[in-house]
Amino acid sequence: MREKILVIEDEESINTLLQFNLEQAGFEVITAMDGVTGLELAREEQPDLIVLDLMLPEMDGLDVCKNLRQSQLLIPILMLTAKDDEFDKVLGLELGADDYLTKPFSPREVVARVKAILRRSQYVTSQTPQPDDLESLKVGELKVYPDNYEAFFEGELLELTPKEFELLVYLIKNRGRVLSREQLLNAIWDYDFVGDTRIVDVHISHLREKIEQNTRKPIYIKTIRGLGYKLDGPQ
Ligand code: CA
Repeated sequence: MREKILVIEDEESINTLLQFNLEQAGFEVITAMDGVTGLELAREEQPDLIVLDLMLPEMDGLDVCKNLRQSQLLIPILMLTAKDDEFDKVLGLELGADDYLTKPFSPREVVARVKAILRRSQYVTSQTPQPDDLESLKVGELKVYPDNYEAFFEGELLELTPKEFELLVYLIKNRGRVLSREQLLNAIWDYDFVGDTRIVDVHISHLREKIEQNTRKPIYIKTIRGLGYKLDGPQ
């Protein structure tokens, strides 16, 4: 079955360009020109991925993002931002977007990024292993089932976005090892260049909010000053 992409973008030329190129790449594409319609379509159509512009009429991209995550819709979101929207970009990531592209971008970049995000989220969702075969990774009160796309903390299921989940799996698979921001960016976001590593910091802080008692004194995900991050258990 073809994967369904929802494009929420109010600039008609960009909307059309994205639709054309994503369809050429084999995706089914539905589009919205404003935030309210976009949010409705996301709920009704349950797309596999959303390409979301930040500046939108009716309801802006940040609110769309926030609404989706609050209603536990964990559909991957690729955010589109203007070049000088540094603040909005970080805020968008904080509100649960998985990745972003800065305008102007080439359609090829968008398609490549969409494919990369889908490849990764499918890798974790398409397998349906038997309960007995499930590999679990455990550190302290944290237990992750990579094949089942589930993570628990103190016995409670964690609500994680696809990128948060991948990051957690990667950290726990490399427990005790210091991982640089660039390493994490490469591993989780498929960036084959040195990109903006704040995307890593924002996702780390999200994970901390979900698994640390005190995010200022993290027990699990530690910051190694000048180097990066390391996942460790309680001592
Ligand atoms: Ca716009």
